[in-house]
Amino acid sequence: MVTPATYLNTPAKKLGSHLEKLADLFDRMEAAYDRVAADYGFQCKGCEDNCCLTLFFHHTLLEYLYLYRGYVQLPAEERDRLHQAALQVNRELARSQENGETVRIMCPLNRDGSCTLYHYRPMICRLHGIPNEMRRPAGEAPTRGPGCGDFDRQCGDHPYIPFDRTPLYMEMAQLEKALREELSFNEKTRLTVAQMIAGFPA
Ligand code: SF4
Repeated sequence: MVTPATYLNTPAKKLGSHLEKLADLFDRMEAAYDRVAADYGFQCKGCEDNCCLTLFFHHTLLEYLYLYRGYVQLPAEERDRLHQAALQVNRELARSQENGETVRIMCPLNRDGSCTLYHYRPMICRLHGIPNEMRRPAGEAPTRGPGCGDFDRQCGDHPYIPFDRTPLYMEMAQLEKALREELSFNEKTRLTVAQMIAGFPA
Protein backbone atom coordinates (compact mmCIF):
# COMPACT_ATOMS: atom_id res chain seq x y z
CA MET A 1 0.00 0.00 0.00
CA VAL A 2 1.21 3.49 -0.80
CA THR A 3 1.70 5.59 2.35
CA PRO A 4 3.38 8.93 3.04
CA ALA A 5 6.54 7.00 3.95
CA THR A 6 6.68 5.80 0.33
CA TYR A 7 7.81 9.32 -0.60
CA LEU A 8 10.55 9.87 1.97
CA ASN A 9 13.24 9.24 -0.62
CA THR A 10 11.70 11.39 -3.34
CA PRO A 11 14.55 13.31 -5.04
CA ALA A 12 14.99 16.83 -3.68
CA LYS A 13 14.74 18.13 -7.25
CA LYS A 14 11.19 16.83 -7.48
CA LEU A 15 10.07 18.00 -4.03
CA GLY A 16 12.03 21.24 -3.78
CA SER A 17 9.63 23.73 -5.29
CA HIS A 18 6.67 22.25 -3.37
CA LEU A 19 8.47 22.53 -0.05
CA GLU A 20 9.75 26.03 -0.85
CA LYS A 21 6.20 27.18 -1.51
CA LEU A 22 5.09 25.63 1.76
CA ALA A 23 7.91 27.41 3.61
CA ASP A 24 6.77 30.70 2.09
CA LEU A 25 3.15 30.03 3.12
CA PHE A 26 4.29 29.13 6.64
CA ASP A 27 6.18 32.44 6.86
CA ARG A 28 3.04 34.33 5.89
CA MET A 29 0.94 32.32 8.36
CA GLU A 30 3.29 33.25 11.16
CA ALA A 31 3.30 36.90 10.11
CA ALA A 32 -0.52 36.97 10.05
CA TYR A 33 -0.68 35.28 13.45
CA ASP A 34 1.94 37.60 14.95
CA ARG A 35 0.11 40.73 13.72
CA VAL A 36 -3.15 39.71 15.36
CA ALA A 37 -1.47 38.43 18.53
CA ALA A 38 0.37 41.77 18.83
CA ASP A 39 -2.88 43.69 18.38
CA TYR A 40 -4.35 41.74 21.29
CA GLY A 41 -1.16 42.06 23.31
CA PHE A 42 -1.11 38.25 23.59
CA GLN A 43 2.17 36.58 24.37
CA CYS A 44 2.62 32.82 24.17
CA LYS A 45 5.28 32.11 26.76
CA GLY A 46 4.50 28.48 27.40
CA CYS A 47 1.95 27.47 29.99
CA GLU A 48 0.69 24.42 31.82
CA ASP A 49 -2.05 24.06 29.23
CA ASN A 50 0.73 23.54 26.67
CA CYS A 51 -0.57 23.07 23.11
CA CYS A 52 2.27 20.55 22.57
CA LEU A 53 0.20 18.30 24.89
CA THR A 54 -2.78 18.47 22.54
CA LEU A 55 -3.52 15.49 20.32
CA PHE A 56 -3.39 17.10 16.89
CA PHE A 57 -3.76 15.09 13.68
CA HIS A 58 -2.12 16.37 10.51
CA HIS A 59 -3.57 15.61 7.12
CA THR A 60 -1.14 16.66 4.44
CA LEU A 61 1.71 14.90 2.72
CA LEU A 62 3.38 18.31 2.47
CA GLU A 63 3.62 18.78 6.23
CA TYR A 64 4.85 15.20 6.59
CA LEU A 65 7.64 15.64 4.05
CA TYR A 66 8.53 19.09 5.37
CA LEU A 67 8.92 17.72 8.89
CA TYR A 68 11.10 14.96 7.46
CA ARG A 69 13.28 17.54 5.74
CA GLY A 70 14.09 18.99 9.14
CA TYR A 71 14.41 15.59 10.80
CA VAL A 72 17.08 14.28 8.39
CA GLN A 73 19.26 17.30 9.12
CA LEU A 74 19.54 16.35 12.80
CA PRO A 75 22.54 14.38 14.06
CA ALA A 76 21.99 10.62 14.05
CA GLU A 77 21.91 10.38 17.86
CA GLU A 78 19.24 13.08 18.07
CA ARG A 79 17.16 11.31 15.42
CA ASP A 80 17.48 8.11 17.41
CA ARG A 81 16.42 9.88 20.62
CA LEU A 82 13.37 11.37 18.91
CA HIS A 83 12.50 8.06 17.29
CA GLN A 84 12.52 6.29 20.67
CA ALA A 85 10.53 9.13 22.29
CA ALA A 86 7.93 8.94 19.50
CA LEU A 87 7.56 5.17 19.90
CA GLN A 88 7.02 5.69 23.64
CA VAL A 89 4.36 8.36 23.00
CA ASN A 90 2.58 6.02 20.59
CA ARG A 91 2.60 3.21 23.15
CA GLU A 92 1.20 5.51 25.85
CA LEU A 93 -1.49 6.78 23.51
CA ALA A 94 -2.50 3.26 22.42
CA ARG A 95 -2.69 2.12 26.05
CA SER A 96 -4.84 5.09 27.07
CA GLN A 97 -7.15 4.58 24.11
CA GLU A 98 -7.55 0.88 24.96
CA ASN A 99 -8.50 1.88 28.50
CA GLY A 100 -10.90 4.54 27.28
CA GLU A 101 -8.86 7.23 29.00
CA THR A 102 -8.19 10.74 27.77
CA VAL A 103 -4.60 11.64 28.43
CA ARG A 104 -2.44 14.54 27.41
CA ILE A 105 0.97 13.33 26.26
CA MET A 106 3.79 15.69 25.39
CA CYS A 107 4.80 15.79 21.71
CA PRO A 108 8.15 14.00 21.32
CA LEU A 109 9.62 17.07 19.61
CA ASN A 110 9.09 19.24 22.67
CA ARG A 111 12.32 19.38 24.60
CA ASP A 112 12.43 21.53 27.73
CA GLY A 113 9.63 23.69 26.35
CA SER A 114 11.13 24.24 22.89
CA CYS A 115 10.28 22.54 19.62
CA THR A 116 13.25 20.54 18.28
CA LEU A 117 12.04 21.10 14.71
CA TYR A 118 10.53 24.56 15.21
CA HIS A 119 11.22 25.72 11.66
CA TYR A 120 9.60 22.57 10.24
CA ARG A 121 6.62 22.22 12.61
CA PRO A 122 3.17 21.61 11.12
CA MET A 123 0.58 24.23 10.31
CA ILE A 124 -1.61 24.00 13.40
CA CYS A 125 1.43 24.55 15.63
CA ARG A 126 1.74 27.95 13.93
CA LEU A 127 -1.92 28.96 14.14
CA HIS A 128 -3.16 27.59 17.45
CA GLY A 129 -3.87 30.00 20.28
CA ILE A 130 -5.81 33.03 19.06
CA PRO A 131 -9.51 33.20 18.12
CA ASN A 132 -10.12 32.74 14.41
CA GLU A 133 -12.74 32.27 11.77
CA MET A 134 -13.30 30.21 8.64
CA ARG A 135 -15.52 31.49 5.85
CA ARG A 136 -18.31 29.18 4.71
CA PRO A 137 -20.13 28.99 1.36
CA ALA A 138 -22.20 32.05 0.48
CA GLY A 139 -25.10 32.60 2.83
CA GLU A 140 -23.63 30.65 5.77
CA ALA A 141 -22.14 32.33 8.82
CA PRO A 142 -18.37 31.93 9.31
CA THR A 143 -17.23 29.28 11.77
CA ARG A 144 -15.51 30.77 14.79
CA GLY A 145 -12.70 28.99 16.64
CA PRO A 146 -11.79 29.98 20.21
CA GLY A 147 -8.42 31.00 21.57
CA CYS A 148 -6.48 28.72 23.92
CA GLY A 149 -6.80 28.77 27.69
CA ASP A 150 -3.83 31.08 28.11
CA PHE A 151 -5.28 33.47 25.55
CA ASP A 152 -8.52 33.58 27.55
CA ARG A 153 -6.58 34.32 30.73
CA GLN A 154 -4.58 37.13 29.10
CA CYS A 155 -7.03 38.61 26.60
CA GLY A 156 -10.41 36.94 27.12
CA ASP A 157 -12.18 40.25 27.69
CA HIS A 158 -10.78 41.80 24.49
CA PRO A 159 -13.21 42.24 21.55
CA TYR A 160 -12.59 39.78 18.70
CA ILE A 161 -9.95 40.89 16.18
CA PRO A 162 -10.60 39.31 12.78
CA PHE A 163 -8.24 36.43 12.01
CA ASP A 164 -9.54 34.67 8.92
CA ARG A 165 -7.77 31.36 8.34
CA THR A 166 -9.69 30.69 5.11
CA PRO A 167 -7.16 32.01 2.55
CA LEU A 168 -4.31 30.27 4.39
CA TYR A 169 -6.12 26.92 4.43
CA MET A 170 -7.15 27.31 0.80
CA GLU A 171 -3.59 27.98 -0.29
CA MET A 172 -2.42 24.98 1.75
CA ALA A 173 -5.03 22.82 0.00
CA GLN A 174 -3.85 24.02 -3.41
CA LEU A 175 -0.21 23.27 -2.60
CA GLU A 176 -1.16 19.82 -1.30
CA LYS A 177 -3.19 19.12 -4.44
CA ALA A 178 -0.26 20.05 -6.69
CA LEU A 179 2.13 17.79 -4.77
CA ARG A 180 -0.28 14.86 -4.76
CA GLU A 181 -0.87 15.22 -8.49
CA GLU A 182 2.84 15.21 -9.18
CA LEU A 183 3.41 12.13 -6.99
CA SER A 184 0.12 10.42 -7.93
CA PHE A 185 -0.73 10.07 -4.23
CA ASN A 186 -4.43 9.76 -3.46
CA GLU A 187 -4.59 8.29 0.05
CA LYS A 188 -5.98 10.10 3.08
CA THR A 189 -3.43 10.92 5.76
CA ARG A 190 -4.12 11.41 9.46
CA LEU A 191 -1.01 11.33 11.57
CA THR A 192 0.19 12.82 14.84
CA VAL A 193 3.71 14.19 14.99
CA ALA A 194 4.67 11.16 17.11
CA GLN A 195 3.33 8.81 14.44
CA MET A 196 5.27 10.67 11.76
CA ILE A 197 8.53 10.57 13.70
CA ALA A 198 8.08 6.91 14.62
CA GLY A 199 7.68 6.12 10.91
CA PHE A 200 10.82 8.01 9.89
CA PRO A 201 14.03 5.98 9.78
CA ALA A 202 15.99 6.42 13.04
S1 SF4 B 1 5.76 19.89 16.48
FE1 SF4 B 1 6.78 21.31 17.88
S2 SF4 B 1 5.32 23.01 18.20
FE2 SF4 B 1 4.18 21.27 17.32
S3 SF4 B 1 3.33 20.14 19.08
FE3 SF4 B 1 5.33 19.19 18.59
S4 SF4 B 1 6.83 20.29 19.89
FE4 SF4 B 1 4.95 21.51 19.87
